[in-house]
Formats: sequence, structure tokens, C-alpha cells
Amino acid sequence: MSRKLLTGLIASAALLMSACSITLDEAQTASHGTFEKQYAPVVIGNLNALPDIEVVNGVTYVDGILVVNKEIPLPPDYSPGLQEEVIDAYTEMFADGAEQGLDFTLVSDFRTYDYQAGLYNDYVARDGREAADKYSARPGHSEHQTGLAIDVGSEDSATTLSIKFGDTPEYEWMKDVAHEYGFIVRYLEGKEEITGYQYEPWHLRYVGNEAEAIYESGLTLEEYLGID
Ligand SMILES: [Zn+2]
Repeated sequence: MSRKLLTGLIASAALLMSACSITLDEAQTASHGTFEKQYAPVVIGNLNALPDIEVVNGVTYVDGILVVNKEIPLPPDYSPGLQEEVIDAYTEMFADGAEQGLDFTLVSDFRTYDYQAGLYNDYVARDGREAADKYSARPGHSEHQTGLAIDVGSEDSATTLSIKFGDTPEYEWMKDVAHEYGFIVRYLEGKEEITGYQYEPWHLRYVGNEAEAIYESGLTLEEYLGID
């Protein structure tokens, strides 16, 4: 907030406080004079600005960031493949991790709509729809269809796609540096109510430059963009 605006607000507040101390009669008399002006709404910056949502060929961007979640789908024919910048980013992260003695593996990357449909239907057949929805996306709702999401694993294959990955040295290092490569851990612990997914320490979403600010905020992508 600017100093000028702040000074203005303090002045308005002082006027309101003094106005409150006058009698009702005085207030009624004054209401057609300057009194009314003091109650004019004060607009403070754009604190209530709505997120900038744009839908391009069925793909939703919020403040320029592609968003897919339980509510926001992708069209079935959206099939961009794993994006070059994502390949570069994880390749560099894995290499830097290797220098620390860490052993990352790429478990999963781009998935088509049809592939996700097959996965989801298999999970529903095995565990039921309610359980499947907690760990698997419905077709058209997987971040893997964006070509911007990857699942990573460690040398210890017993932790693959398991919350046990969160206890590996790989995750311990990755969770605080992934943003330097443009990634965020998308489905955070304790944020299940917002993301709709259980904690997935292995699932990274590439967001590029914005990753650092999102990481520093400690928020989910939905909260950060104001669409939670
Ligand atoms: Zn994933």
C-alpha cells in the first residue's frame, strides 16, 4: 500500500471516529453536507481482484498457468506429449541429484486421455470409484495429460508411487530444490481437502518461473491462484 493511500485511510478513519461521537440530531442535520462523503466506500488496491481465467480450445489457464484438477478438465484430444522444457528440467535435476549421491528414476510422464481412461477404469474395478478417486484422476482430469507432470522415484523401488517415497533421501533433497528447476510438489500433505488427492510426494508439476513463489508460499496451486 502506498504511503499516500495509507495516510488517506488514517485521515478517513479519524473523521469517522469523530463523526461517531456526534448526536443523532447532529448526524441527521449533517447528512446532506460533508457527512455523507465520509462514508464513501474506500477502495484499497485490488485485493479482491479475481483470477484471470482464460479457456483456449478447452484448455484452462489461470493467470497464464495451465490448470487441470478435479473440476477443470482437458479435452480428450489434447495430446501434447511430454514437453521439452520438462525433459530438460528433470534431466538437470536428476543429474544434480546424482552429484549428491542420489538416484532418481522417472516413473511416469505423459499420458493420453485414453490411457488414463484405461488406468482409471482398472482402479475402479479393483477398489471402487470412491477409493479410486482419491488416488487416480478421471480421464480428462489427469495432470499427466498436460505433458507438464512427472512421477519420480528413487533407487529404492519399494517406495515407487508410495507415500514412503516421502521418506527417501531423494525426496528430502528434492522437496526444497524442485522449484529451482521449475517444479512444484503438486499434491501436498495436509492439503487433501483442496487438491482432492492424497499426499503424492512423487508427483511433480512443471510451472516454470512461478515455481519459486508457489514453493515459498507453501500453498497448493489452487490456493496460490485463488481458485480453491
Ligand atoms: Zn502423477
